[in-house]
Amino acid sequence: MSSLSPIQIPSRLPLLLTHEGVLLPGSTMRTSVDSARNLQLVRSRLLKGTSLQSTILGVIPNTPDPASDAQDLPPLHSMLSTNAVIFKPPKPLSITLLELVEMLDMSVPAVAKLRRLLDSLPREALPDILTSIIRTSNKEKLQVIAIRPIRRITHIPGTLEDEDEDEDNDDIVMLEKKIRTSSMPDQAHKVCVKEIKRLKKMPQSMPEYALTRNYLELMVELPWNKSTTDRLDIRAARILLDNDHYAMEKLKKRVLEYLAVRQLKNNLKGPILCFVGPPGVGKTSVGRSVAKTLGREFHRIALGGVCDQSDIRGHRRTYVGSMPGRIINGLKTVGVNNPVFLLDEVDKLGKSLQGDPAAALLEVLDPEQNHNFTDHYLNVAFDLSQVLFIATANTTATIPPALLDRMEIIQVPGYTQEEKIEIAHRHLIPKQLEQHGLTPQQIQIPQVTTLDIITRYTREAGVRSLDRKLGAICRAVAVKVAEGQHREARLDRPDVAEGEGYREHIVEDTKPESISDTTDLALPPEMPILIDFHALKDILGPPIPAVPHAPVRTAAMLHSAWPTTSQLYQGKALLGRACKRLALSGAGAAPDRGRVAQLPEVTVADPGTPPKQTSSQLEKSNIPTETLKKLADGEPPW
Ligand code: ADP
Repeated sequence: MSSLSPIQIPSRLPLLLTHEGVLLPGSTMRTSVDSARNLQLVRSRLLKGTSLQSTILGVIPNTPDPASDAQDLPPLHSMLSTNAVIFKPPKPLSITLLELVEMLDMSVPAVAKLRRLLDSLPREALPDILTSIIRTSNKEKLQVIAIRPIRRITHIPGTLEDEDEDEDNDDIVMLEKKIRTSSMPDQAHKVCVKEIKRLKKMPQSMPEYALTRNYLELMVELPWNKSTTDRLDIRAARILLDNDHYAMEKLKKRVLEYLAVRQLKNNLKGPILCFVGPPGVGKTSVGRSVAKTLGREFHRIALGGVCDQSDIRGHRRTYVGSMPGRIINGLKTVGVNNPVFLLDEVDKLGKSLQGDPAAALLEVLDPEQNHNFTDHYLNVAFDLSQVLFIATANTTATIPPALLDRMEIIQVPGYTQEEKIEIAHRHLIPKQLEQHGLTPQQIQIPQVTTLDIITRYTREAGVRSLDRKLGAICRAVAVKVAEGQHREARLDRPDVAEGEGYREHIVEDTKPESISDTTDLALPPEMPILIDFHALKDILGPPIPAVPHAPVRTAAMLHSAWPTTSQLYQGKALLGRACKRLALSGAGAAPDRGRVAQLPEVTVADPGTPPKQTSSQLEKSNIPTETLKKLADGEPPW
């Protein structure tokens, strides 16, 4: 083509050429497009709120010129007919490209860009460029002239929409960059590259756009190769465990053994520890301490009531609202691939039509398989072999045997009264004081009071209830202290009459100090506020009535203290001996020995005995509550 001859405009240029008139959707008359006003009307009607926007760059009147050999516009025509716009197939066209572009609306960024492109390129290259623009898909066409989907063709440049769009664009570029620089395994990398290619071609309005983008964001956020360095110092670990927890010697010993093996042999295919014991005995908090000693991140996954296997393994991405499972979510939260995961309450996993989560956990907990764990959402394998799993449960009876088999059970028994007192004074009270903004100079809880709380206000193997009661005491004292400060401030003020302050003194002197009495006008209470039994009664109310025979409760306690049948067997032996001792010493009413003998013959080799049955037999045994209580507390009953 010579540079002087008019440039041939390919007929499939995304411009709507109109000749005689256009029948706009919904109208009964053709609108002729011979005037600029009508042209504007047609343009706005056609390009506004319709999918045509993504196809048509502009509307121009068609000038008949038989010399031109341009073809019809089949794709455009068919599309327009489906949109109920009837227009005459364009006649051959003779117009220079620049003239054509000039006729278009220059305020449209795409057109402006096209114009700039035409100005900057050599004329000979223009037909080629245009042809290449036209042969590609709409999206690609638009990309060539560096604009976004023409949904936005009518917007005003420089508006907020523009900025949002640029941000989106930047995000995708960033995402792509992150994928390129991420240290994910090859397989995952391939999937990501494929998905980002798809994402780039997708219009943002497509529901799949958000899904794919979320997926890719998760993929780049996952800690494929990021881990913390273990601090394996057994001596430090021992000190830390001792500082954090009183008693629990057996558990701490086993945990230290476990850590020592890790220190010597950096083979992470160790057993999965499962702490089994009644609530509130510190199973979770030992797990947290293990993470602290190792210098690892800690993440707790509560499994109580989980009855859908997708909770563990995630939903396939084909589902609406699909998301990854808790394991992958946990990894994303902690941001490293070697955290300590505490699988809390594995004994409370449920089962439903949505599958068996315990079965999904089998793969997670098996050191032979978990280096290749595949979450349904990710659909690529993630290596879980660096994760340290610790499970907790109240009983082993409801843990599926296959899962139980994968774990090493460590029993955490309930505490004795003495241990509870020590735990309260070493750990719980300081923690509660700190939480309530109190200092030891403001409150004093003697050991007898703690014993009173334990024996009269709580009935538990652990210390959670005790902790709550101490919290209630701290709250009451906090009110008192805050009120005291307020009154002090009032008395300091010179405008308070002297007599008033004196009167308050008298009231203070004549009335015994009561923690609950907040209506009195007493002076600030004497510090530290001593919590004695009366104060306890004021704050916590009357003690739990001591039931002389509460076999159901105590049998249940016995069960929670010795959840396995072998332990029950030991319990029964202990009971037998207790009976003998009691009978020999003549102390109190001897339990019915005949009934103790009727207790089921549970042996270590008889794991199938349902605990409930045993418990009801225990109830019938007529053993004094105190004896059972002592046994449940782990004390010898004599
Ligand atoms: P569990 O997981 O066994 O139900 P938690 O670990 O949640 O119990 O413990 C409940 C509370 O009791 C925690 O605040 C914990 O610190 C405290 N606790 C339990 N046992 C001890 C202990 N031996 N020493 C110090 N605090 C303890």
